[in-house]
Amino acid sequence: MNQLRTVCVYCGSSLGTKAVYRQAAELLGRELVRRGLRLVYGAGSVGLMGVLARTVFDRGGDVLGVIPGVLAPREVAGEPIGETVVVDSMHERKARMAREADAFVAMPGGYGTLDELFETLTWGQLGLQRKPIGLYNVNNYFDPLLLWVDQAVKEGFVRPLHRQLFIVSEDASTLLERLAFHEPPKGVISFPGNGDRLG
Ligand code: AMP
Repeated sequence: MNQLRTVCVYCGSSLGTKAVYRQAAELLGRELVRRGLRLVYGAGSVGLMGVLARTVFDRGGDVLGVIPGVLAPREVAGEPIGETVVVDSMHERKARMAREADAFVAMPGGYGTLDELFETLTWGQLGLQRKPIGLYNVNNYFDPLLLWVDQAVKEGFVRPLHRQLFIVSEDASTLLERLAFHEPPKGVISFPGNGDRLG
């Protein structure tokens, strides 16, 4: 079983067109607080990122936002919520968020969210990190992506083993519950001292 204290959530800097996405961010925020889990995220108050962080912070939960200086101005990122760390680059932000986290969750978002998710999966596939990864599949948003993963496995570009690098649930509580028990598949390439290689 994984000792989860901090969960890094990747999600949209937009709200999406449907209320269900905002509601799902609130549900995840409440669930993090209920379980005493700290949130690490990309900082600021924009989009689903802001809804999630505000929900956790307003309910007394711990929030750490990590933002590169270039995005830090309030007109870009909105109001700071909780503790905010300013770093030098987008790369440093991802490395810091990954170091702080015991597990990762991706929920609906755009290019930025997928970039963060896939970098984390790539590190997992290389054995550079072994922390659990979950896809919060709100409103079946990620179904086309899951179809693509199946296609990539079928066509020989993703090893079947690596399909098990992440778990999927449309329910926040179930997802966090399962993350605590999720182990990366055996046979993933692993280097000595991994976990120190994120920065
Ligand atoms: P996207 O999924 O394209 O909306 O991008 C979401 C991710 O991109 C976030 O997790 C952040 O890392 C980053 N991002 C994009 N826009 C902003 C912003 N205005 N303020 C803070 N982070 C942002």
